[in-house]
Amino acid sequence: MSSDDSPPLDARHTVPERTDVLVVGAGPGGSAAAAYAAAAGRDVVLLDAATFPRDKTCGDGLTPRAVAELGHLGLGDFLTHRPRIDGLALHGWGAHQLVRWPSGRFPAYGSAVSRMELDDAIRALAVSRGARMVQGAKAVDVTMTGDRIAEVVVEGESGRTPIAVDEVIVADGVRSGLGKKLGREWHRETAYGVAARAYVPSGRADDHWMGSHLELRGPDGELLPGYGWVFPLGDVAPGPLPLSGGLLNVGVGALATAKRPAHMALRPILEHYAAMVGDEWAITGTPQLLTSALLPMGGAVTGIAGPNWMLIGDAAACVNPLNGEGIDYALETGRLAVELLADSTDHTTRWRDLLVEHYGLAFSAARRLAGLLTMPQTVPALGRPGIRSARLMSMVVRVMGNLITPDDADLVARAWRTAGRVSTRIDDRPPFS
Ligand SMILES: Cc1cc2nc3c(=O)[nH]c(=O)nc-3n(C[C@H](O)[C@H](O)[C@H](O)COP(=O)(O)OP(=O)(O)OC[C@H]3O[C@@H](n4cnc5c(N)ncnc54)[C@H](O)[C@@H]3O)c2cc1C
Repeated sequence: MSSDDSPPLDARHTVPERTDVLVVGAGPGGSAAAAYAAAAGRDVVLLDAATFPRDKTCGDGLTPRAVAELGHLGLGDFLTHRPRIDGLALHGWGAHQLVRWPSGRFPAYGSAVSRMELDDAIRALAVSRGARMVQGAKAVDVTMTGDRIAEVVVEGESGRTPIAVDEVIVADGVRSGLGKKLGREWHRETAYGVAARAYVPSGRADDHWMGSHLELRGPDGELLPGYGWVFPLGDVAPGPLPLSGGLLNVGVGALATAKRPAHMALRPILEHYAAMVGDEWAITGTPQLLTSALLPMGGAVTGIAGPNWMLIGDAAACVNPLNGEGIDYALETGRLAVELLADSTDHTTRWRDLLVEHYGLAFSAARRLAGLLTMPQTVPALGRPGIRSARLMSMVVRVMGNLITPDDADLVARAWRTAGRVSTRIDDRPPFS
């Protein structure tokens, strides 16, 4: 509960004068952090520039790791009546493989839920645990006392108001405006993503497989350094998403680096892709609500913490460089940040060290591989033979799905960690530095 035991505030613009923990951004990362911090008895304000429910450009896919993390947060039941996805249907170069999610440390299934619904459910959980939510108000500046944040300046309908804070969790997404004010820098020498998504009606929306096309071609047949996806959302009930019935989330993502930027118009590529998979996925209409976004990946940022603040989720570039998934990392970093709050008085190096410990090796290896995939000749050279091997593809799914943990001791896990160690040693700029 909040410190004065007042009922949870879910107002649009009422900005309190002070709080113990201010969480900026109510995506999965910020709302998970707010829920954990409120459950631990902290006085929490959860602030978002948008008014919920709000859309977020995303493939809406939940990996088994994200499913596990939602369960840990207390939202396992939320997925009971949502699609249960058994694995990936991989396609490319005239071949296809059905690869099940591995069984082991994580549930052997994933899911897919529109972000309009998912994010609203997580933020409602945070509010039900006592976080005070302020919507439609943007964090625009900070006032420092020495090297600590003393106040965060919030801009809402009634103008600018300061909130005095003890701790700040910055979960403001890809562009991280507040992070930038605090010195966050995004480095684009390593792989980053550009991606677009849309919704289409389909007779196969209740499928148990996520479609993934590793051979992505443009409208003129040219091979592109990216991939396409088809994620079945099931029968979506009328609600905040302005579409309902059997729906698929279809999308395309491309990898790029500063040296090899992706100069491609995503809309025609996505429309072409949706038409290409139309028969196979029983698509009955044209792409709706098409949006696109950039994706910093693999910890390619610096300035992610100070004495009393931490950046989490996309703001800290915690996104898988091999497929652009970041919901599981956002949820996990929300949890880890609150755990650190409990036993640290200066987070500056401890937060960076913790992220390096959890994700550093995998991010370094994955973004090096992703960088290779931005070279036009690499994709068919690896993809054509690779997709014909069921064994190789199940390893790829495990790596791509972020399903290897530090406790895994099998050959694939050890090889992946070794690749990470070698890669980190030769990185000009290792993850988070
Ligand atoms: C096209 C595309 C497809 C993707 N597909 C997948 C997928 O299928 N599966 C997956 O796991 N991941 C996917 N991702 C990545 C995923 O969307 C992100 O990793 C995830 O949303 C990160 O969550 P977050 O909480 O860090 O940030 P966000 O979800 O971006 O939330 C940030 C919040 O901060 C708020 N905000 C921003 N600035 C301010 C401010 N100054 N003051 C107050 N509030 C502010 C915003 O309104 C927003 O609500 C995809 C991304 C893209 C672009």
